[in-house]
Amino acid sequence: MKKSKIQIVWFKRDLRITDHKPLFEASKISIPILPLYVVENEYWQQSFSNRRHWCFIHDSLMELRKELKKLGQSLIIRQGSVKDIFSELAVNFNIISIYAHEETGNMWTYNRDKCVKNWCDQKQISFKEFPTNGIVRCLKNRDDWSKIRNLRMKEDLTPKPHSLTPIEGIRDGLIPKKNNPIFKNDFIGKVQKGGRDEALKIINSFLNDRGKNYLYNISKPGISEKTCSRISPHLTWGTITSKEIIKLLNLEKDKLKQNKLKLLNKNLNAIKSRLSWRCHFIQKLESQPTIETSCMHPFYDELRKENFNHEYYEAWKKGLTGYPFIDACMRSLNFNGWITFRMRAMLVSFASYDLWLDWRITGHHLAQTFTDYEPGIHYSQLQMQSGVTGINTLRIYNPIKQSMDHDKNGKFIKKWVGELRQVPEAWIHEPWKMDLKTQENINCFIGTDYPEPIVNHTIAIKNAKTKISSIFKKNGYRNKSTMVFKKLGSRTKTKSTKTKSSQLQLI
Ligand SMILES: Cc1cc2nc3c(=O)[nH]c(=O)nc-3n(C[C@H](O)[C@H](O)[C@H](O)COP(=O)(O)OP(=O)(O)OC[C@H]3O[C@@H](n4cnc5c(N)ncnc54)[C@H](O)[C@@H]3O)c2cc1C
Repeated sequence: MKKSKIQIVWFKRDLRITDHKPLFEASKISIPILPLYVVENEYWQQSFSNRRHWCFIHDSLMELRKELKKLGQSLIIRQGSVKDIFSELAVNFNIISIYAHEETGNMWTYNRDKCVKNWCDQKQISFKEFPTNGIVRCLKNRDDWSKIRNLRMKEDLTPKPHSLTPIEGIRDGLIPKKNNPIFKNDFIGKVQKGGRDEALKIINSFLNDRGKNYLYNISKPGISEKTCSRISPHLTWGTITSKEIIKLLNLEKDKLKQNKLKLLNKNLNAIKSRLSWRCHFIQKLESQPTIETSCMHPFYDELRKENFNHEYYEAWKKGLTGYPFIDACMRSLNFNGWITFRMRAMLVSFASYDLWLDWRITGHHLAQTFTDYEPGIHYSQLQMQSGVTGINTLRIYNPIKQSMDHDKNGKFIKKWVGELRQVPEAWIHEPWKMDLKTQENINCFIGTDYPEPIVNHTIAIKNAKTKISSIFKKNGYRNKSTMVFKKLGSRTKTKSTKTKSSQLQLI
């Protein structure tokens, strides 16, 4: 029997039908479209994946399926290796083309995409990939990047197709449940709700109300949860695009001109520039996929590779370092799957400088914990906050100063570190300084009920600085930094990045 012709639209981290170029372009051709999502068992065994991500994807797939059904053809779900699933579909159908977004992900997804491309070439199936947000594949010169990205962001949104032709003789397939055992690396806590409806709700509530004090609260843990946009997991898993958000921000700016707006202009500008940073960081991974596992500046590659201290790592992951603010931030992050930028940076700084742990390992815990785990931002930021890029100022966060600055009366600490609930405000940032009498009075003994500081910050930082400055002084360090800058550096900060590449900043 003659096989019927189909085109496949392969959904990956683009779980929407609006502003979805592969779907729209496929819909222009009069061959039925099979919308496909594959649950890849091997992906879910990787050290960066986590059930928390799946919970978000699950919500998003349920909604995507509904939306596609409304157009005429349900989302088809299969489980296994993508190449095997395509081969199985090819037994019953004549696959003419496969449409997908270009994905900038881990080396695992990069290799998987290469394997799919080879399979398509062998079978003479055309594999059509479309850019994601402002990321440019095969970028020749970083100088041109922001111009290309900004032009892309100005393009019109891609419309939804009007309808899809139903495909006969194919079962939909079940969306695996959130508690399915294939999703390993469990967590205890909450997950932000996924799905397109939620993406729109959350961005609109931010623009109409929650974002009024966005910049004012951006570094305050406990408050920033409500006043930041919280759109990040939606961008990661693609229920909304950067371009859509930029268009919404521009509308708000127009309203501002007519004095109808509640959000301040500087808040809108701040979000806009962060969306640009988003693309900027992901572009680094696109241009150099090895930054998932190798330092941008190769001189740092061996720096923390030896003598990994597993006890420190466990203490850091569990929020048992003896530094109340670090522990509160980590416990809050473990539970909520989100914490604001500064606290992410501080947690990495503490792991990399104070505990001298390798970012390649600490990064796994954070990747699994962040609902918004986005490889391009993640690995670039891990490297920046660990001081191994060779092109950024090294920022070392002081956990006591940060605690005093951002949780003055210790409310956030007391919420997350229950052992310290009775500690008087005067000692909340440094409970190890409490005298024994006070410890007796509040029945909280440091070293028994809550750990002594795992390391002495001042000494640990002194040692870290010595090790790092030995790298600055090596022959050829500057030349390599210049090369890294040429390939990956931000052009908006040309002068400062060049001069600050070997400077330390204590914050
Ligand atoms: C070590 C470390 C790891 C990080 N890992 C991730 C990650 O895996 N995924 C992720 O989305 N963000 C990551 N970030 C960046 C940032 O912390 C989050 O994007 C932000 O906290 C998300 O919350 P929001 O959506 O409310 O952000 P908002 O402040 O409301 O910003 C809006 C959007 O801008 C983008 N954005 C904001 N800050 C940054 C930034 N510094 N760099 C790049 N893009 C930014 C995000 O897409 C965000 O959703 C990381 C930061 C650090 C220091």
